[in-house]
Amino acid sequence: MATCWSCLGDVVKAGLDAHFCGACKKIQPAPDPNDLFGYLGLPARYRVDEAARSELEARYHELSRKLHPDRFTGASARERRLSMEKTTNLNQTIRTLRDPIKRATTSSPARGASWKRRGEPIRSS
Ligand SMILES: [Zn+2]
Repeated sequence: MATCWSCLGDVVKAGLDAHFCGACKKIQPAPDPNDLFGYLGLPARYRVDEAARSELEARYHELSRKLHPDRFTGASARERRLSMEKTTNLNQTIRTLRDPIKRATTSSPARGASWKRRGEPIRSS
């Protein structure tokens, strides 16, 4: 659990729910941006087939809508900044995941430290 910067409530650390506080609904700092699949609330995968690809795109569009700076125009400076940072992270994440070569090099076991920290098994094939 992480702590919400606004209401000090608990915020889950992984998955799509990690982007917003469950209690006050405020936008939260990015979960580990190196955990590319986790950023979209998905389990890490080495093979991305047709179904996984459409899931990735669906999550991207969902999150993109929720994080869009236009939704934070009346919000505090902190929320506006988070929205911009996270939108940038999100766009980098989806660009990497859409590219099979970048995906393979970025989500290889050598880069899996952040997944290990979360206690998820690293599968090597
Ligand atoms: Zn909160």
